[in-house]
Amino acid sequence: MTADEEVDLFVIGAGSGGVRAARIAAGYGAKVAIAEDFRVGGTCVIRGCVPKKIYVYASRFADEFEQSEGFGWSRPQASFDWGHLVATKEREITRLSAIYAANLEKAGVALHQGRATVTGPNHVMLANGRCFAAKYIAVATGGVPEHRPHVPGLDLAISSNEIFDLPDFPKRLLAVGAGYVALEFASIFVRLGSRVTVAFRGETILRGFDGDMRAGLTAELQASGIDLRPGLSVLGIERHADGLHVRLSDASTLVVDQVLLATGRRPATRDLGLEHVGVELAEDGSVKVDGFSRSSVPSIYAIGDVTNRVNLTPVAIREGHALADTLFGDKPTPVEHHAIATAVFTTPELGTVGLSEEEARSTLDVVDIYKTSFRPMKSTISGSSTRTMMKIVVDGATDRVVGVHVLGTDAGEMAQLLGIAVKMGATKRDFDATMAVHPTAAEELVTMRTRTARYVREA
Ligand code: NDP
Repeated sequence: MTADEEVDLFVIGAGSGGVRAARIAAGYGAKVAIAEDFRVGGTCVIRGCVPKKIYVYASRFADEFEQSEGFGWSRPQASFDWGHLVATKEREITRLSAIYAANLEKAGVALHQGRATVTGPNHVMLANGRCFAAKYIAVATGGVPEHRPHVPGLDLAISSNEIFDLPDFPKRLLAVGAGYVALEFASIFVRLGSRVTVAFRGETILRGFDGDMRAGLTAELQASGIDLRPGLSVLGIERHADGLHVRLSDASTLVVDQVLLATGRRPATRDLGLEHVGVELAEDGSVKVDGFSRSSVPSIYAIGDVTNRVNLTPVAIREGHALADTLFGDKPTPVEHHAIATAVFTTPELGTVGLSEEEARSTLDVVDIYKTSFRPMKSTISGSSTRTMMKIVVDGATDRVVGVHVLGTDAGEMAQLLGIAVKMGATKRDFDATMAVHPTAAEELVTMRTRTARYVREA
């Protein structure tokens, strides 16, 4: 196959992982090209973490206004302008996208706008017909929302891709699913003034998270006015004059302005040409890779959500960096996916690192639990019912802290720092030996002395 250009690395997808891999590889002197068929920055910058966090900030002023009274303020006559928020968000992501593109240019990476497909183990073709021969190909195409289950009228629903830019503010919103996306947007929109319902098929929200935290967050979400409806499926959606009529499996019909489907994402590997060149895909469509992100075709690598390992931006960035180190930096670098801290940006936030109590009890012989639940100072003064919950999960045999979970204000910030301690193998004794910062909520993490429970696994 003849090529118009030869490169050392061709990256498909200019999101967090792809951009990092391209820049670092170019820094090592590699000739790098990157293709993007949407906006530079990927899901996180354009329609994920960044705009979501802007909307989270916007939503939390509602609580601040309300709580200010307890501290002597008269409550302001607040009104909210959705169009203003959307425009502000747009300006910010445009700015960030431009920075990403400029950084690529500065690094000497050639950015090609348009869709790319893999046409051979070492060949990539752009939609405009331009062909590249590449020593290595990195697939960094991320994921896309997966609409399910397939019921009549599903095309009337939106995903997280569309929710940021709705022309009209949804006064009545139904979120389907109980993962990160459904709960974060529920939390945002209820504070911005929507009537929010969350319908999900399971019994509890956030499958896989610590049980006590799930229960605690359920109570907080309900207290904020969100109608949580477990054990429900959507059977169909129809448009009527008064809104979207959503038929639910309990025989009820809900009338809303928008239905947000937040039922997970799938790896974006469709029509990329990967199967035709022998790249093995898993059943869910993800690229199967080894510890160095290498696919079943030795010249083709994959990083980020397209591999469906741990679908978080910092993980994709780390995988992209490691890939460049491995291929061009003479530093073979596997990525360790252990004890990754994460946060659900609901209000309150849920920050977590390591094992849940349930995971620890099913894998360790002796598990010690330390937990606390309290009303933080701001709640007691403002009259808010919001509580903070913290749990430390300890391997009773070694005293090692194997998981920490925080539900409360700034839990995401705490999780980041807790991640260091857990990753370093800190013991409960290390936590106890750490002096508290007073007065903070986080000080509870180093002052919890009384063991709440010990579980010994039966032989
Ligand atoms: P999640 O995988 O977190 O949650 C999916 C939800 O959809 C679950 O409640 C799941 O139910 C439900 N679901 C799945 N299939 C069906 C079905 N066929 N019918 C009905 N319900 C179904 O996905 P999200 O879309 O919320 O988020 C996608 C990913 O994006 C996350 O996994 C995360 O990695 C990332 N993300 C991270 C954020 C952060 O770090 N703060 C924020 C947003 C996204 P069940 O539990 O029963 O399977």
